[in-house]
Amino acid sequence: MDKHPEEQLSAYLDDELNPDERRKVEDHLATCASCQALLEELAYTKQDLAQTFSRIEAPMDFEARVMQTIGDDKARSYAGKGRIVALLLGLLTIGLFYLMTVEVVGKLMHGWFKLMITLIYAASHFILSVPALTGGTIVLSLIILVTSVVSLRRLLQASAN
Ligand SMILES: [Zn+2]
Repeated sequence: MDKHPEEQLSAYLDDELNPDERRKVEDHLATCASCQALLEELAYTKQDLAQTFSRIEAPMDFEARVMQTIGDDKARSYAGKGRIVALLLGLLTIGLFYLMTVEVVGKLMHGWFKLMITLIYAASHFILSVPALTGGTIVLSLIILVTSVVSLRRLLQASAN
């Protein structure tokens, strides 16, 4: 074989070649120092890679164990902490409900206030825009005022006697 089977060396290492391919690679390796060196390099790289992976796996396993330990602690202390969490959630709910109520009432008050101002403004504007009504309103107001004063004086006189 004149051609170096470089692309087959990795498969040879992984034992993924069929018997015919395997025999051809072995025959070539027996006579080719450069492919022998390459095979050694590949084998070393694979081993190094495997070691690296096992080193990565170790901390991953450690992390999993730490998480498991935390999980166990959580499960143990859940009964005690559950009440505090429930209490906090309850307070939070009450707080949120209170804020919402205050906001809604505030909006209602604000809406009512605006409505009253609008009505007063509209009423005064309407009264002032109609001269006859203005005169009538003034007369009516004076009648009510006089009646009130008279009623009040009678009441005071009645209580004095
Ligand atoms: Zn070769």
